Amino acid sequence: MEQIYDLIILGAGPAGLAAGLYGARAGLSTLILERGVEGGQAAQTDRVENYPGAMLEDETGYTLTARMMEQAQSFGAQRKMDEIRSLELEGEVKTLTGASGEYQARTVILATGASPRKLGCPGEETFTGQGVSYCATCDGAFFRGLEVYVVGGGDSAVEEALFLTRFARKVTIIHRRDQLRAVKSLQDKAFANEKMAFIWDSVVESLDGQDVLQSICLRNVKTNEITEIKADEADGMMGLFVFVGLDPNSGLLEGKLPLEKGYIKTDENMHTAIPGVFAAGDIRVKSLRQIITAAADGAIAAMEAERYLAGQE
Ligand code: NAP
Repeated sequence: MEQIYDLIILGAGPAGLAAGLYGARAGLSTLILERGVEGGQAAQTDRVENYPGAMLEDETGYTLTARMMEQAQSFGAQRKMDEIRSLELEGEVKTLTGASGEYQARTVILATGASPRKLGCPGEETFTGQGVSYCATCDGAFFRGLEVYVVGGGDSAVEEALFLTRFARKVTIIHRRDQLRAVKSLQDKAFANEKMAFIWDSVVESLDGQDVLQSICLRNVKTNEITEIKADEADGMMGLFVFVGLDPNSGLLEGKLPLEKGYIKTDENMHTAIPGVFAAGDIRVKSLRQIITAAADGAIAAMEAERYLAGQE
């Protein structure tokens, strides 16, 4: 075993990066572990309009979170890419075992966030990457000049649909109710955008096509009527972006910590049921999942980790 860190943070979204900044700045030897793209979901967002101060002309979720990482590292936080496969959280020293190694620390902050929920309909898996996507920032440009459909009615669906109007000829939101859930400011923008259209009270039943997505079958939830939308022949394909909410990344934690619908229960100071183990950000049971609340959780969790290490609780 190379080193026992004061603090290991699992997940490098805004919660994990804020925890890294606060932990390292407080003088804790701090390691941030991440399995995929740093910045979490925020890094896949184009515009961030509601994080205080994020108003630079070219600011995106990616640039904002990249600066968060830089800032954490400037105080000495270390980073490592690894997929953690098991956790031993009880006891004074916690052990995290990944694909490339084993990591130990006296405190752990779980900031694993959440991932896009799938529709679960026939064809979804087959056409993922062939017309079906969960990330407009990553894949929007592939649909330049084409027709694109967006499933969902929340902030993500409407925000990403607006982003897709930069590339697509037309963007149609398919929503299972007759009212959007997104905040009013986003709704106003969507209703005012000439490239946007809406299909209400409808869910996706199945997806089809030859190699690429060419047909979407919808069911009207009020009438049960089935409608098939086909890709324009000249286009040869269409896009379907899915934003129907999030599922917590807590598979590793089942049976180890009390969960509520997969989210970790904490007190208001981010303490979990295990001493020395904290949770921060979207993985936590909470009412508002935003960059600002994730960052705030991270800061509190790191300060609580410091207090725990100092024997002050
Ligand atoms: P969300 O708020 O949970 O919305 C999910 C949407 O998908 C809802 O409209 C829901 O319909 C619909 N839906 C759920 N399951 C479905 C299914 N199986 N088939 C069809 N539709 C389905 O999720 P989100 O938009 O990803 O946002 C997640 C969190 O991040 C929220 O707290 C949100 O405020 C936050 N967020 C904030 C911003 C921002 O502030 N700029 C941007 C993005 C996300 P119903 O409405 O009928 O339930």
